[in-house]
Amino acid sequence: MAGPRRKLGVALVGLGMYSTGQLGPALKETKHCYLAGIVSGDQGKREKWKMEYGIPEKNIYDYKDFDSIKDNGDIDIVYVVLPNSMHAEYVIRAANANKHVICEKPMAITTSECNQMINACSKAHVLLSIGYRLHFDPYNLEVMRLAKEKVYGPVTKITAAHGLSKADGWRLDKKLAGGGPLMDVGIYCVNAGRYITGMEPLNVHAFEGAKRNKEKFKTIEESLTWRMEYASGIVAECSCSYSEYQNHLHVDAGKGWFEIAPAFSYGGIKGKTSDSKLEFPHINQQAAQMDDFALAIIENKRTRVPGEMGRQDVKILQAIYTSMQTGQKVRL
Ligand code: NAD
Repeated sequence: MAGPRRKLGVALVGLGMYSTGQLGPALKETKHCYLAGIVSGDQGKREKWKMEYGIPEKNIYDYKDFDSIKDNGDIDIVYVVLPNSMHAEYVIRAANANKHVICEKPMAITTSECNQMINACSKAHVLLSIGYRLHFDPYNLEVMRLAKEKVYGPVTKITAAHGLSKADGWRLDKKLAGGGPLMDVGIYCVNAGRYITGMEPLNVHAFEGAKRNKEKFKTIEESLTWRMEYASGIVAECSCSYSEYQNHLHVDAGKGWFEIAPAFSYGGIKGKTSDSKLEFPHINQQAAQMDDFALAIIENKRTRVPGEMGRQDVKILQAIYTSMQTGQKVRL
């Protein structure tokens, strides 16, 4: 008789805010995977994580010796949680080390990088997934269902906004971030447009907001509004910002409406429709996302949030920037 199934080992690459505040703690709740290793350039952080999570010395890497992770049987999944412009390099190195990979959003800076990442994973026969945690959140899943099943009639209009009241560090540097709030938080509105309509936008039209702080936002936009048009006349009006908090998703349909606000947070999401309130128990989105990926590997299934989904969003982000720069509507 087969014994209990082994939990898959995850190695986090990059021990910044998201790994420390969300992914590490979530890996204490996961059922099908656990934190087996870490990759960091910072000795102090490596020591701290080693103590907190009981990570054996042989599973601790820095960026230089990362490739030798190939020989480490404890690590099944590498999770890349670095600044955006570093995603492609580390996903490809992880695939070359024959590890399954989760990459944070945005998948990369360009679609050409996304193609290289998808090819590297497919060549190595490993799975690639993007950290789209909201595909595991019950409120966002309910909004997808209401749209798909036309519970309030066919969707006519989407309004989505995601903004942070502040941003710093690499997020303000186009070379590392690939862009501004659009790459970081606007991507949630782009992805929501696709999961609400089940369609790809036909065209996008974007307008950069005025910069209140020209020095701080020298290489990136401070805010952006854009419109996406889909077949059957559906429109999505979206906005993102690095100087104003925004966090909602509202959907108008033929016979009513539904919305979530905050829509894109780790927890505390609230929802209502034109005739009822949405209420679901709290779940840990990151734990659900990582467990689903581990199960996809164990059961040899497709992941719900594959690299192809990340690449399609990057393609739309690029079109939005082209429109912002040219002032023209861009066809996809
Ligand atoms: P962060 O700045 O807190 O952490 C980045 C980490 O990368 C740090 O540990 C830093 O030391 C390391 N790093 C290595 N080389 C670096 C370099 N050259 N410059 C700067 N840092 C370097 O960032 P974060 O908020 O943890 O974001 C990391 C990634 O996770 C980003 O791609 C971001 O979009 C994504 N993220 C996703 C979510 C989500 O909800 N899915 C939330 C937050 C962040």
